[in-house]
Amino acid sequence: MLLQDKVAVISGAASPRGIGMATARLFASQGASVVILDLDETAAREAAGQLPAGNHLGLACNVASRRDCQQAAATTLAHYGHIDALINNAGITQPVRTLDIDPESWDRILDVNLRGVLYLSQAFLPSMRERKAGSIACMSSVSAQRGGGIFGGPHYSAAKAGVLGLAKAMAREFGPDNIRVNCVTPGLIQTDITGGKLTDELRQDIIKGIPLNRLGNAEDVANAYLFLASDLSAYITGAVIDVNGGMLI
Ligand code: NAD
Repeated sequence: MLLQDKVAVISGAASPRGIGMATARLFASQGASVVILDLDETAAREAAGQLPAGNHLGLACNVASRRDCQQAAATTLAHYGHIDALINNAGITQPVRTLDIDPESWDRILDVNLRGVLYLSQAFLPSMRERKAGSIACMSSVSAQRGGGIFGGPHYSAAKAGVLGLAKAMAREFGPDNIRVNCVTPGLIQTDITGGKLTDELRQDIIKGIPLNRLGNAEDVANAYLFLASDLSAYITGAVIDVNGGMLI
């Protein structure tokens, strides 16, 4: 098992069809104790309760709140003593065009997708540095690379591009402490973020541009997170793993 006796924290992991929950299930099946963080405490607890047997936790944490992140880290570290992997997965999107972005939606999208990565990383980095070990994986998006996704607005692209810069900077800064920081950049993955908005016609249109001839699923991304959290990627930091079926070749 790739994560035997490891402790992993995953943000945005209570949504049943989401990438975070698929990752939590996979990590638990690989021997990890998993901490599920999400906005709603009951949902996070219930999600943790559905994982394969193990010592899992579900905690409320709005990643855009520094206090919430510090509190989640304090509770987690009091419970387990340390963590091995942090998956900065939480995110939101909004399909609007540049001229329609108002200050509030700019702040909301940047706060969750980018500020949240900083705050949650800041909450766990000191304990990782103390142990001289840790892996952080951050959720970016193909939207950052191609200047727009199917459903995300320009502010979403900006936030997810910011995640790439932040993750690479943290990889440089914390490499000497044996803390690795990497990103995943998924293409179109079928989850609640995308699901409801996808007509059959649009789906076929999108698939035409994907060499592997299908949309992604949450498990495709969970597998990349697993690689980054495990020792299989022990010599990989500052990297960006595309999980997009070839959409960007
Ligand atoms: P999802 O909506 O199923 O999952 C997002 C989760 O984040 C939800 O559980 C939600 O409650 C949680 N969340 C939202 N705001 C939060 C906050 N402030 N604090 C803590 N948790 C919060 O969608 P998903 O597709 O599984 O998305 C997961 C990540 O993948 C997001 O960062 C998204 O931007 C990114 N992503 C998704 C796709 C895709 O096609 N689905 C592609 C590229 C990147």
